[in-house]
Amino acid sequence: MNPTSAPSAILPPAILGMLGGGQLGAMFVDAAHALGYRVHVFSPMDGEPACLNADFKTIAPYTDLAAVGQFAQSVAAVSYEFENVPEAAAAACAAHAPVRPGRRVLQVAQHRVLEKTFFSENGLACAPWARIAAAADAGKALAACGLPAVLKTAHGGYDGKGQIVIKDGGAAAIEAAWLRLGGVECVLEAFVDFTQEVSVVAARGVSGKTVCYGPILNHHRHHILDESVYPAPSVTPAMQEEALAMASRVMAALQAEGVLCLELFQTRGGGFLCNEMAPRPHNSGHLTMDGFGVSQFRQQVLTLCGRDPQDPDFRSPVAMRNLLGDLWFAGGSLREPNWQAARAMPGVTVHLYGKTQARHGRKMGHLNAVAETAKQAAELAGHAYRALLT
Ligand code: AMP
Repeated sequence: MNPTSAPSAILPPAILGMLGGGQLGAMFVDAAHALGYRVHVFSPMDGEPACLNADFKTIAPYTDLAAVGQFAQSVAAVSYEFENVPEAAAAACAAHAPVRPGRRVLQVAQHRVLEKTFFSENGLACAPWARIAAAADAGKALAACGLPAVLKTAHGGYDGKGQIVIKDGGAAAIEAAWLRLGGVECVLEAFVDFTQEVSVVAARGVSGKTVCYGPILNHHRHHILDESVYPAPSVTPAMQEEALAMASRVMAALQAEGVLCLELFQTRGGGFLCNEMAPRPHNSGHLTMDGFGVSQFRQQVLTLCGRDPQDPDFRSPVAMRNLLGDLWFAGGSLREPNWQAARAMPGVTVHLYGKTQARHGRKMGHLNAVAETAKQAAELAGHAYRALLT
């Protein structure tokens, strides 16, 4: 497995820049180290997961553009681990080093109106939707989407935050929900009666070479990803081809250089509707760390460096369970989960992010379980999860 490199590729031991100090950044650092690179992390807060294993760190707010500029001058290329990087910070980096994925990808992923427009203009099916920027838009939006529908802020929402499901009540209910979200720019989307939610993680190199993982089955709990499984059940080879083609089309249309996750609804007819995209490795793609020879983070490093992504090298059906801070409080009082019990199970790998304070809903780590079938992997992940509570 020898990744190809364009003549302009950034090679080790170059220093790579990562905007953001969270767990996605930390797993990027590990993957970069494995390939011989060093990493400079820019994080508004010290002590975050990526600050712990970075070679260099800058602790400053994203609004400190002088610090951002200095950071960018010290690295060969910059990526980010969350999509809400302020535009000015991305631009300050781009003045000194390539930022991948680039500006257009960030703009589209940051704004649901641009994102839906992008899907619609590129023949990528999504649920009927409408923009709401004033109370007077509610009637038109109702006509476009009907009810039930989901109202979402155009900017800044994640893990179900900034969203309201409207079941009935016509335009007046839509207007009231819009006011509850602060009267900011929103999109209304028809409620999709999906059979399952899946995601495709894609990596595209500067050369255009694209590889995909998925579709991965995702289950959410309280709007936060709880479990992911690959291969997803109820997906025929033809459907898989369709989902991967949709992700590849997104990558090509955006000329994206890097890793991006496309979240999809699978409909009763078996087709897919685009929900949203994240221009970075994704929580659902954490299962690539153990089910594949090449993880989504390794692809992020390669593509950031102008190198082609590698064949994902599928090894085994795999299931991932997120480990939220809630686990630490499961017995009613704060206690450490039983790591030994889970780690003793063959096929189970526990990944912890080094966060010292457990809080409800906080992503502290994840575990992956590999087995002969996806069903067995999901069962094993469930056993391992429950073992943590013993
Ligand atoms: P999002 O932040 O857009 O990914 O939405 C969070 C979750 O809300 C999704 O993973 C779905 O479970 C649910 N959801 C969002 N949009 C819709 C929709 N149009 N129809 C049905 N469920 C939705």
